[in-house]
Amino acid sequence: MSDVRSALTEATRRLGDRVDAEVLLCYALSKPRSWLIAHADDVLPVEHLLAYTVLIEQREAGEPVAYITGRRGFWSLDLEVTPATLIPRPETELLVERALQHLPTDRTCRVLDLGTGSGAIALALAHERPQAQVMATDVSADTLAVAQRNARRHHIANVGFAQGDWFVPVDGQPFDLIVSNPPYIESLDPHLQQGDLRFEPMRALASGADGLDDIRRIVRDAGRHLVPGGWLLFEHGWNQAEAVRELLRHAGFVELSTERDLEQRDRVSAGRWPVDAGCS
Ligand code: GLN
Repeated sequence: MSDVRSALTEATRRLGDRVDAEVLLCYALSKPRSWLIAHADDVLPVEHLLAYTVLIEQREAGEPVAYITGRRGFWSLDLEVTPATLIPRPETELLVERALQHLPTDRTCRVLDLGTGSGAIALALAHERPQAQVMATDVSADTLAVAQRNARRHHIANVGFAQGDWFVPVDGQPFDLIVSNPPYIESLDPHLQQGDLRFEPMRALASGADGLDDIRRIVRDAGRHLVPGGWLLFEHGWNQAEAVRELLRHAGFVELSTERDLEQRDRVSAGRWPVDAGCS
């Protein structure tokens, strides 16, 4: 026999993390976090305790909490995630914030999210800017299916989906804003073999020897898919800002900038396609 309080104490000891212990218990019981506090003395039925124990064992084996529960909050949205998608990170909300600054509230504009994964960025932008027409691409059909379910779940209708590698499925279409959280970790980075990253899709994380292979492609091809004066914004590693701005400059982008995340690490860079591009 175990009550909610002692089950949580024991799970926290085993996992070394109180939040993980609480999230997994809520999932096992199908209850919100607030319920745990109000019901700390409730005795847990044995079948719930057993279900909780299985989840704790999964977590002890390294599986990310978001893959166990199949959910992760991002921006204001509760999203489905599966092992086919990267788990949305809080620092990626910086990209959403910056992108919103370039999206008018009073008129329509076309937005492209490259490598959408669970749809986190595309759906947050589409949700905040109902006038915008958002297109989200991903190379994986399984991943795109998750993003589409997330759009339906939140009744977000101003977003479309297309399968293919980077710009391939939208070739020839112009956008006002292109955003992406591409893979950018160096392929031999030891972190890829540690912690939650071991369970996430490698193609969403690693990108060649210096981590910049996909960013190079995106920056190279973005200009052909931007209207004059349009913006490209993307996430990158904390030590890649200088290299990324050089790529942007070399490709002809102007008004380059880099923003730091809450941990004061360079995280998002932006460039503008020149207003007079293509007019000369
Ligand atoms: N920021 C993530 C990490 O370091 C990586 C996500 C990505 O490659 N886009 O865990």
